Amino acid sequence: MLESPARVFAQLSTDEPLAQAEVVLGRAVVLGGSMAGLLAARVLSDHAESVVIIERDDLPEGVASRPGTPHDGQLHTLMHGGRVQLRRMFPGFEADAEALGAVISSPYNIRAYADGVPKVSDGRMGLLSCSRPFLEALVRRRTLALPNVKVLTCRAKGLEFRGDAVTGVRCGPAAGEDAGGQEWVEEADFVVDAMGRASKLGDWLEKGGWERPAMRRMLIGIDYATGYFRRTQSDPELAAAIAYRTPTAVPPRVASGAITSIEDDRWLITLANYGKQPPIRDVAEFRELCGELPPVYREAVTGEQLGEISTYHQADSRRREFHLLKRLPARLISVGDAVASFNPIYGQGMSSAALQASALSRYLRSAPDLRQPARDFFAAQRVVVDAAWQVSTAADLARPDVHGPYPRGYRVTKWFAEQIANASITDREVAVRFNSVTYMRTHPSALSAPSTLLRALRVNLSKSGRSGRSGGPQRERG
Ligand SMILES: Cc1cc2nc3c(=O)[nH]c(=O)nc-3n(C[C@H](O)[C@H](O)[C@H](O)COP(=O)(O)OP(=O)(O)OC[C@H]3O[C@@H](n4cnc5c(N)ncnc54)[C@H](O)[C@@H]3O)c2cc1C
Repeated sequence: MLESPARVFAQLSTDEPLAQAEVVLGRAVVLGGSMAGLLAARVLSDHAESVVIIERDDLPEGVASRPGTPHDGQLHTLMHGGRVQLRRMFPGFEADAEALGAVISSPYNIRAYADGVPKVSDGRMGLLSCSRPFLEALVRRRTLALPNVKVLTCRAKGLEFRGDAVTGVRCGPAAGEDAGGQEWVEEADFVVDAMGRASKLGDWLEKGGWERPAMRRMLIGIDYATGYFRRTQSDPELAAAIAYRTPTAVPPRVASGAITSIEDDRWLITLANYGKQPPIRDVAEFRELCGELPPVYREAVTGEQLGEISTYHQADSRRREFHLLKRLPARLISVGDAVASFNPIYGQGMSSAALQASALSRYLRSAPDLRQPARDFFAAQRVVVDAAWQVSTAADLARPDVHGPYPRGYRVTKWFAEQIANASITDREVAVRFNSVTYMRTHPSALSAPSTLLRALRVNLSKSGRSGRSGGPQRERG
């Protein structure tokens, strides 16, 4: 019997610790040693005699940015859904993180604002607040402490196939693509592509006579501007804040602003905007724009500025549809941003990678026939990617500067989504259900439960009764 996506999602997002497992693989090779690759390696360490992570960067010993992750200076929050998985994979992870300076935020020290109006706290969902290099360093330390996991510093350049399966990875020196130099093959019983959104796996599959996965894209044109400031102490409880602005016909200069408290007593603040607006590079402008957001933003930028404002542009959300491939070699999967890279504003990427690692664990525990393509893995991974994609693209499609593609039935789903999002601003019960989905703890289908919809409608009707406004379906764009 086919399992519903909601049921699969619930299984993958379990908080049960990983139980001891049978070793079913000899040597597993993971391409890419960033968040998705490290989490896949952690899971594989339970099922393989040895795990080799192939990474082109010299991975730092401690907390440091590196060239292979040019986005690592931008704000990264780990959602509740990702936190639960990290706790499963690395017992004591959060205590370690806190001891080293990360901030574990409870629902009561996160502030959220919609158009400047404080949102009600759901009383449940929290975040792990630290810089991205800090988080990655801790995940790396815990993964590389496993006795059967090691890193090889080199560049993956292609795959080797025998019959219907992958048998190895062609490697070359870590230096630039065209550096030439000797090539060699790393033998593998199982290969995981975790090479990020620019992964070349599709090229390699095509070259080997296999199919390339189709890529779906949504153009978003989002710009991040990020500043670091010395933390001021007037609100010692505050751990994180997020302020969204409703998209209007004339998009505001700042679509959303996020603050997070990070290690070494600093604030990390990101302002995001869409469309063709000039990037924010100047600290005076950065401070001025923070002044237009709720007071916590104005206050956070009063401290000493630490380093320059750094910017990042992402043109699209994209996903590669491995689950649709008719011809796919056995013993090969792809994870993380290599499969789906979402609009970063919704903070889903690392939690999605963690849930995909959970899908890998589930697959390897199911006694799969490793002579066949890993279709059961891709089916479970699709549930995670569909869930995150649905949440982020639905929110983006509501913007005047994002122009589709619109899914079937968009006009109706948009209206219902707006009802729930509006009600979640003031109603704790709707906020609990809404945040559980956006924090990646629950499958989005939970929001279409009649009880949730009815409650949201009642809340909004009573609000519009009070304010004299009416809510109804809006005209579909595009
Ligand atoms: C601006 C921005 C903000 C974000 N904010 C958040 C957030 O708040 N919360 C969140 O959860 N997510 C966020 N994300 C997403 C998050 O960064 C990613 O989803 C996450 O890092 C998982 O990435 P990954 O490991 O799949 O790929 P990447 O982090 O891109 O890593 C790919 C790795 O593969 C290596 N590699 C590539 N090619 C080769 C090769 N040929 N040989 C060897 N090694 C190779 C690279 O060096 C790199 O280490 C954000 C992303 C961006 C861009």
